[in-house]
Amino acid sequence: MNTQSPHSRVVVITGASSGIGEATARALAGEGYRLALLARRVDRITALAEELGSDVIAIEADVTDRDSLVAAAERVQDELGGADVLINNAGVMLLGPFSSQQRAEFRQMIEVNLLGAITASEVFLDQLRDGGGDLVNISSVAGRTARPGNGVYAATKWGLNGWSESLRQELQPGVRVMVIEPGAVATELPTHITDPETKQGAARLYASVPVTAEDIAEVIAFAVGRPQHLTINEILLRPTGQA
Ligand code: NDP
Repeated sequence: MNTQSPHSRVVVITGASSGIGEATARALAGEGYRLALLARRVDRITALAEELGSDVIAIEADVTDRDSLVAAAERVQDELGGADVLINNAGVMLLGPFSSQQRAEFRQMIEVNLLGAITASEVFLDQLRDGGGDLVNISSVAGRTARPGNGVYAATKWGLNGWSESLRQELQPGVRVMVIEPGAVATELPTHITDPETKQGAARLYASVPVTAEDIAEVIAFAVGRPQHLTINEILLRPTGQA
């Protein structure tokens, strides 16, 4: 285990209102971490925080809005004493053919997946530095390979990987940087796709995905729980059988 007891560590999770973020909140709360749950759907994170107990707070925050992240960081400092772990999990996967029709979605993916993670990290960095913090970036298999139709999504995840490797070297040994790269995980992620054909294909694929958000949450909890002298820098994981 980490030399700090989980009970004294505070974890901030972006995109904690569903899927991997929600499951990670449950896993870490179960291990005794204190949590700040961030997302736009405040009703969902509020209900989750109430369910998980008094050491969990919900904060409405949009990762594309720096002011809301600054306000969130102030609350985390005031109410929980500062963040020890930041999990950059918020993301959107708006797959589709490369065309001008998709341009707003290209921008959204870059602003949420890449710039959102960068902004949350610079906003919380002083708190993470104050006592040995962890920065966990939720990337993807799409950060290691690319396919037709996922170019900009893959670009955001490749970007996350490159940025994380730079930060790993720059912030060590005070802050551990970890990258988690899941393959397909059964969550609501593909339901936001707007291109009809791509959405149908993704729905078919995701209907039979055996890996759950809870599976990924266990892996994240394991990585964060390693002793401070050891960093799991990168974990690439796929459903058995995924190409
Ligand atoms: P979900 O759609 O369930 O979760 C996405 C989360 O991101 C939601 O909680 C959503 O919260 C949040 N989010 C989206 N936009 C914003 C925003 N502007 N500001 C703040 N939060 C935002 O999908 P997953 O759990 O699957 O996705 C979590 C991460 O895992 C993503 O980064 C995704 O790319 C990655 N991933 C997922 C895989 C999969 O197959 N499911 C595979 C590999 C990686 P809200 O809408 O309430 O703001």
